[in-house]
Amino acid sequence: MTTRFEGGCLCGAVRYVCTADPVMAGHCHCEDCRRSSATAHSSHLAAPADAVSMNGETTGYARAADSGNLVTRHFCPTCGAAVFSTNAGMPGLIFLRASSLDDMEVFKPQMHVYAVRAPSWDKPSAGLPAFDKMPPGM
Ligand SMILES: [Zn+2]
Ligand SMILES: [Zn+2]
Repeated sequence: MTTRFEGGCLCGAVRYVCTADPVMAGHCHCEDCRRSSATAHSSHLAAPADAVSMNGETTGYARAADSGNLVTRHFCPTCGAAVFSTNAGMPGLIFLRASSLDDMEVFKPQMHVYAVRAPSWDKPSAGLPAFDKMPPGM
């Protein structure tokens, strides 16, 4: 079966098609992900950047992560929905927001990162590895 999934922002001005399987997927509880989400964490799936065709203008907000790498979060300038982010330390990947998927089941979370920052009402799911910060080597 050929992988193909789609997503976009709330108003539909930003749309994408991805034609490769995600290489990783997880929940991030870091403060930046929290503040840019509508709840206490963000959920991302990383796909090879060359397999994603993005249509529509986004506004990017760049900010250094704990690693020192610049992370740029892209959102729709019309409806404000976060669609994807990029990480200067991982230039071959695009981090799609799970919230932007048309089919939510495409997201198969593998881990929680920055789990130490999760509040009591948004704890990591049982059965998934939870790292206090980023997993070693990332
Ligand atoms: Zn929009
Ligand atoms: Zn984060």
